[in-house]
Amino acid sequence: MHTKQIGEKLFLIDLETCGFKNLIASYVLKGEKTAIIETGPTSSIHNLLLGLKEVGVKPKDVAYVFVTHVHIDHSGGAGSLLKYLPNAKVVVHPRGKQHLIDPAKLWAGSQEVLGRVANDFGKPEPIPENRILVADDGMTFNLGNSIELQSVETSGHASHHLSYYEHSNLGIFPGDAAGAYFSEFDAVFPITPPPFLPDLALVSLEKLIKLNQRVLFYSHFGKAVNATTCLRNYAAQIRLWLRIALEGVRNKENAEAIQARIFAEDSSIREIIPALTSNPFDRKTLVENNIQGFIDFAEKQGVKQ
Ligand SMILES: [Zn+2]
Repeated sequence: MHTKQIGEKLFLIDLETCGFKNLIASYVLKGEKTAIIETGPTSSIHNLLLGLKEVGVKPKDVAYVFVTHVHIDHSGGAGSLLKYLPNAKVVVHPRGKQHLIDPAKLWAGSQEVLGRVANDFGKPEPIPENRILVADDGMTFNLGNSIELQSVETSGHASHHLSYYEHSNLGIFPGDAAGAYFSEFDAVFPITPPPFLPDLALVSLEKLIKLNQRVLFYSHFGKAVNATTCLRNYAAQIRLWLRIALEGVRNKENAEAIQARIFAEDSSIREIIPALTSNPFDRKTLVENNIQGFIDFAEKQGVKQ
């Protein structure tokens, strides 16, 4: 189990989901009360509990479990986790609440999109309604010792997406709203599966850029400095992919041709591409699904015109 202090009162736990390092992070923020940001899926809750122990957190001290959205790699484990945390409530976007109470529909959708990987991540357990707090845009949660987390609605990746801003580290937990970060290349790859809404994602990125931030704490994966640069680069990348997808759909190109043009024109991902395309799981979930998000959006735009 790998844990690391990465900021003022802030720790990263590498959940090592399904044995993969640097895939999904959970964060622990210690004020007078403790908060966990992102639970990861059900199958790595055991590792999360080991990580909590390693960073000296007692289960009874956890007051909040913040989830950025209800995709199972971010919050699927919340139901199992809460059974170990007697005083904790889970904080979620209003549109995510029902999926935490009754995850049946979410689970069916996850199995359809992720296939076998959904089973590896594990089935989410339902959460009693009285253990759920709904957070709208701009709500502040005080952990004591001048530590606060503020919710920022950041839809686009999903309609039920929040990011969280943390004042003492000038940090943002962007969930999937700022893409996936590959620290060894200092590069970001879009997380934009259907139904991705690029116009809303760009509005969300502008909101995050306007905050007084310095660092990003990515769920996939880890800490990045120069938050503003990362966020601006991601916005530029979304505009580039969108332009290519719109042109491609207009010219009746197939998905392979659109992917080839994205790979040719987006120099920021050149170093990551070999790793992402070399194994079938990454190629499908990280590359093809995320490009399909732009193609589906472009096709719907075509219908509207
Ligand atoms: Zn997601």
